[in-house]
Amino acid sequence: MGRSSVTQHRVLDLTSRGGCCVRIAIYVRISDDASGVGRGVGRQRQDCLKLAEARGWTVVEVLEDNDLSAAGKLLRPGFERLLDLIVVGHIDGVVAWTWDRLERNRHDSLRLIDAGQRAGALIALVRGVDIDMSTPAGRLSADVLASVARHEIELKSDRQRRANAQLAAEGKKVGGRRSFGFNNDMTHRPDEADAVRWAYDQLLTQQSQGLIAHAWNSQGLLTPHGRRDGSPGHWRSDTLTRCLRKPMYAGLHTYKGQITGAAMWEPIVDEDTWRAAQAILGDPMRRTKRHPKALLHDVALCGTCNRPVTGGIAHLSRPNRIYRCRTQWHIGRKAEPIELLIVGTILDRLARRDAPDLLADCNRPHVPDALAEARRLRIRIDELADAYAVGKVTLSQMERATASMVHHLKQAERTMADATRVRLLAPLVHTNDVHGTWNLMPINEQRRVIGALLSIRILSTGPGMKKFDPASVEISWRQSATADGP
Ligand SMILES: [Zn+2]
Repeated sequence: MGRSSVTQHRVLDLTSRGGCCVRIAIYVRISDDASGVGRGVGRQRQDCLKLAEARGWTVVEVLEDNDLSAAGKLLRPGFERLLDLIVVGHIDGVVAWTWDRLERNRHDSLRLIDAGQRAGALIALVRGVDIDMSTPAGRLSADVLASVARHEIELKSDRQRRANAQLAAEGKKVGGRRSFGFNNDMTHRPDEADAVRWAYDQLLTQQSQGLIAHAWNSQGLLTPHGRRDGSPGHWRSDTLTRCLRKPMYAGLHTYKGQITGAAMWEPIVDEDTWRAAQAILGDPMRRTKRHPKALLHDVALCGTCNRPVTGGIAHLSRPNRIYRCRTQWHIGRKAEPIELLIVGTILDRLARRDAPDLLADCNRPHVPDALAEARRLRIRIDELADAYAVGKVTLSQMERATASMVHHLKQAERTMADATRVRLLAPLVHTNDVHGTWNLMPINEQRRVIGALLSIRILSTGPGMKKFDPASVEISWRQSATADGP
């Protein structure tokens, strides 16, 4: 049988390739073959050897893969080696039993054809046509095969895209690995779901992400997928933040990074809790730093470019703590006099008899109202997009209306964030010893108090160190902090 298939084979014109000097590799692979023909590797190898012998080719290597159980997912070491041999020019061609022994998916097929074309290799099949990529006719066949392969990959990814869009429209999860708190089928994992609920509660009572991460780790609640090297993954404040930002916990569905509506699964926390937490997670003052930074780092702005300043050290006659512009050398000013001025301003205000007004003003925005307003606006924006989709409103009408609603939505969300100021300021307002309470506060909390009450611009005083002039620091009370004037 093997002999007859070899003799019937269309023989390559090898005069240009020097006959016996053609070096080839034989590639054999077991796979689940419905016909049962060619199932045995031994049989495939024998037929391939006969073909090579009949052509007078030198067999450099016999490569073998067994991917019966791999369902096309695992790397094929033999196939990868084959591509390497072709690319580096150690072989002139490949002999295989049939084309489907060589390719397992269209992607592999494309890689083989690309490698073969670049090296001008030949592919000879016991059952099938020869493709000699050193000839125009061979390259044409390879091009056709490659086009077909590419076309099939495109069709497949298009099918996948449409299937994903369909899942999204139905409020089902689109692919991906399981998230903390959920099983793969989006049912809850009770212990993790409890931990998620607890984490949102902690966040809303001003606990830092670092402390929440630490609590999860010490209870043995680790990240669901571990690290790349297979070791268990401990939570850090950044991974925890990413986790708690996921809309899926509020039962919200996303597609391509956008919230698309209610999901099919049971939420772990209600949407209001989740929204309020996002206002806190999005608060740049809350970004935890490993080391305490200078008091006004990221809090005050450069008077020239209005970007947040950074704390640093300048070496003059001796090292001086300074604040400087982050991006350019707009300013470089001694830190201590500025800090004394700012802390003095804040503590004076907090020591005044009308200090509780700072809280009264923060209390005024009614959080439940703001949440309801935000929800109403989000629904309205969705409705508008739908109306545009079916042609009920024009693009410019939709854009105009959406812009104003997004503006109001941001205001409502800011109101929710303002509510957190109450918790921040309360201990300073309800004390007889403002200075003592302030001095006991961790520097990160002091920074947040300053950021909540004041906006500060540090102006340039030109080159050289000068006597400190308080007018060179522009201080204004934030709108909701003014009450009846500081
Ligand atoms: Zn600047």
